[in-house]
Formats: sequence, C-alpha cells, structure tokens
Amino acid sequence: MASRPADPAPVWELLPPRAVLLTPRTFTDSSGEPAGSPLTVQRFIPSRVRRMVGAWCFVDYYGPDDLSDAGGMQVPPHPHCGLQTVTWLLSGEVRHTDSVGSDALISPGQLNLMTAGHGISHAENSTRPIGPILHGVQLWVALPEAVRDQPACFEHHEDLPVWQAAGVRATVLLGSLASAVSPASTFSPLVGADVFVEPAHPASLPLNTAWEYAVLVTSGAAVIAGAPVTTGQLVYLGGGRTSLEVSSTSGARLLLLGGEPFTEEIVMWWNFVARTHDEIVAARTEWMHGDRFGTVEAGGSPPQLPLPAPPMPAVTLKARGARGDQAAG
Ligand code: MN
Repeated sequence: MASRPADPAPVWELLPPRAVLLTPRTFTDSSGEPAGSPLTVQRFIPSRVRRMVGAWCFVDYYGPDDLSDAGGMQVPPHPHCGLQTVTWLLSGEVRHTDSVGSDALISPGQLNLMTAGHGISHAENSTRPIGPILHGVQLWVALPEAVRDQPACFEHHEDLPVWQAAGVRATVLLGSLASAVSPASTFSPLVGADVFVEPAHPASLPLNTAWEYAVLVTSGAAVIAGAPVTTGQLVYLGGGRTSLEVSSTSGARLLLLGGEPFTEEIVMWWNFVARTHDEIVAARTEWMHGDRFGTVEAGGSPPQLPLPAPPMPAVTLKARGARGDQAAG
C-alpha cells in the first residue's frame, strides 16, 4: 500500500494535541517508591490525520511547568531504535545519560541529538536545584532504511548557526534554513529551527517548495501564513511554499519543522521506529531481556530502574505513511 505524499500545495491546518502523561507514577524505583514525575506533555505528532512532517515523526511540547514539587523531569532508562531523538529546551536544565557512555547537561540554546540506529537506551533527569521550571520540546526524526540500523551515537551541540533577516532571527538546530546549516548529523533533507519574531515587524522565512512544514508557537502569538496561532498551537502548512510570512504584535517564538516528505511507511510503537510488527516484537523482547540496548547509569537519585515496555497490543501493528489513517481521496 503506497503512502500518500505530502500535500503538494499549501494548506493551513491546526493539529489538535492530545495530553499524554509522560511517565506514569506506577513505575517504581529500586526502593519501591514511585519513579518519574507526573509530567503531562502535549503530543502533536503523530496524530490521527498527520503522522509525520518530513522525517519528523514525533513532536511533544511541554511547559512551562514548575516541577519543583515533583522533582522535575525524571525519565528512567528506556530504549530507542530506528530514530533520532532531539531535545531542545526553552527553560530548565536536564541531564542526559546513555548506554554509549554519554553524560551531558543540556541548557536552553543547546541541542542534544541521539541517533539511536540499531539501539540505545537513555535517561533524562532534571537537575536540582536550578532546573525545576521545564519548557521545551522532545522531537524524533525517523531514520531512512539505509541508515536505520547504524550504530548508536550521541551529539551535544552548543554552537548552532543563526539565520537572520529583518524582523526575524532563527537558530537552526537540525538541517538547513537557507544558508544556515546545523553541524548536527541528519540523514534526510529537513529543518528544525527556533525562530524569534520581533514585535510589529512582519518577516519572511525562506522555505523549500519541495518540503512540507509545520510551525509550533512556543511563546506569544503570531500570524502565520495569514492566520493567527497562539502559544501551544501547531499549524501544519503542507508544501509548495517558497516563503512563510510571519508577524506578531508583541513578539513571538516559533519552532519551524519541515523536510522532504518521508515516503517510507513506518511502524511506531512505544519508543521504537521500525518497518514491521515483528521488528517491534523483537525490539521489545530484547529490551525486556536486557539485550541490544545496553545499560544506563541513570542520573537520578535514588537509582532508577529501567522502564519496562508495555504489553504488545492484541492487534498486529501496521506500517503507515505520513498521512495517517485518513481515507484516500
Ligand atoms: Mn527517550
């Protein structure tokens, strides 16, 4: 079954998020206490109608939340494969540890990029006392067939390129925006950029007509391609645009995500991206047996036990294209 390509023409479509409890309290640490904060995130991608934007296959937005009482973000060791995780904070500080030996603090303006490839596990924990306010995004990029089984690696970038024009300033986290190219590793043509829009100064961002795009407003309110979008909303814009007109009365901050439509059908389940149901079953089994994904020295205190995978659903997972489950036509 062929996937439908992204809309060749511009569209303007708000994607409603669903609230997801990031780490259920039912998980316990080694002392039997509940592990993990009750952090609620807004999940925009995948959604029923829109499963990807370019190779971006997962978009979670959270905060700003004061997590002082909850101990901040506490995500115990868990596995990934077939994807890259992109961590971008707007406030707070998080410590990343993983099974290839990385131990990295991330602050706003810095990029954590973990290429899971064949398999890796990691933990993410707020630092104390300076990081209880959390505001940021957690993004995944699907890896194309040729590279999805590569060895895992982790990158931390503090020096990211900026693209500027009258009224607008964009930090390019991943991929490229016009002449600004991020040093972070990518495996398909895409962009992720954090965009500041000056008050009362309409601006234009250069787009690639062959790519599809979405914009998440992370602060303030803006008019994007002619219609208003406010904090915590994501608009899917389709493709076929040479530029994107943005303006804001009081100033705004946007996350621009885009890329070449991803034509491979994928299966996403829990923290895995694969191509078939059987691959997911294998990954789950290997994680539960302590194989393939290594071990993490988690930064949390008390020590965190690895997250168990949820049970497999009763149905066979189907590979899907970017368009989701909308009927053709
Ligand atoms: Mn993760």
